[in-house]
Amino acid sequence: MWQLVGHSRATTLLQQSLRNGQLSHAYLFVGPAHVGKFTLARNLAQAVNCTSTEPPCQECTSCRRIAASKHSDIHTVDLISVEKKEIGIRQIAEMQNAAHLPPFEGKYKVFIFDRAEMLSSEAANSLLKTLEEPPPNILIILLTAKESALLPTIASRCQRVELRPLPLCLVVDVLVKDYDVAQDKADLLARLSGGCLGWALQALRDENLLQEREQRLADFARLSGAGTRDRLAYAADLAALFGKGRDRMTDVLSAWLQWWRDLLLIKCDNSRWIVNIDQEASLSTQAERLTAVRIAAFMRDIRAAAEQLELNANPRLALEVLILRMP
Ligand SMILES: [Zn+2]
Repeated sequence: MWQLVGHSRATTLLQQSLRNGQLSHAYLFVGPAHVGKFTLARNLAQAVNCTSTEPPCQECTSCRRIAASKHSDIHTVDLISVEKKEIGIRQIAEMQNAAHLPPFEGKYKVFIFDRAEMLSSEAANSLLKTLEEPPPNILIILLTAKESALLPTIASRCQRVELRPLPLCLVVDVLVKDYDVAQDKADLLARLSGGCLGWALQALRDENLLQEREQRLADFARLSGAGTRDRLAYAADLAALFGKGRDRMTDVLSAWLQWWRDLLLIKCDNSRWIVNIDQEASLSTQAERLTAVRIAAFMRDIRAAAEQLELNANPRLALEVLILRMP
């Protein structure tokens, strides 16, 4: 049984390839963070190593050991630490050494590259050799949310499987029925997740995620009435966050974008699509003071700042410009 919720096109494709003996030696799973790429990769690793007639059965020793991350033939390659900015050549060399040994306990050795876009160019070129001439009985699965950052020669040697965000009603349904979440909370989590069930489940497990959101919303409210000095201080704090890891900064900027998109939706009488459904009253008050043109212009500013940060601009400068421009 595939454990992935939704995404039946992807699971059917993999199931058929498995049944017909036409599995590729390398896959590229593309989709936004928390959409289910890792779950699908783990399921595929189970499927190729499963000992039952209905792989992945989730019951044989192999399936259970993979689910518990105890199977010695399944390897995950990711950034060594949050401070590291890339997956380096040494990690590929280790992977290649392991790939040339036969599987210890299963049929296939599986290497899952989380955030494959973080491969350094040296590492990517080295991995390319393995993709071109893979040793027998190995399966390489690359996961990425930023396909454009991947070396095209790497992508072209993998079979591409795209995972799109789930319909929000499906996320709500899973949260209510399988996780016993109250309807209102399920609705909010589904909207915040943008259809990425993994995010909603993480928010259920880790209260910090929603607390951080509360903090951000409080900051937004404070900043809109704040003077230059407070705004610059906030920009400095945000820039410091950027130094601790790109992902957290991306989270903050996407929360900004969500908020301003909500303002625009309210301005255009489309409030039923807003993400921050629990903040409708504050959003409406703020929207009253702004024009749609002004909101749209600031959304462009947020996107521009995100792009500049992506291109390694000075984070403090980019954020100062953004926050000073905030209406
Ligand atoms: Zn099994």
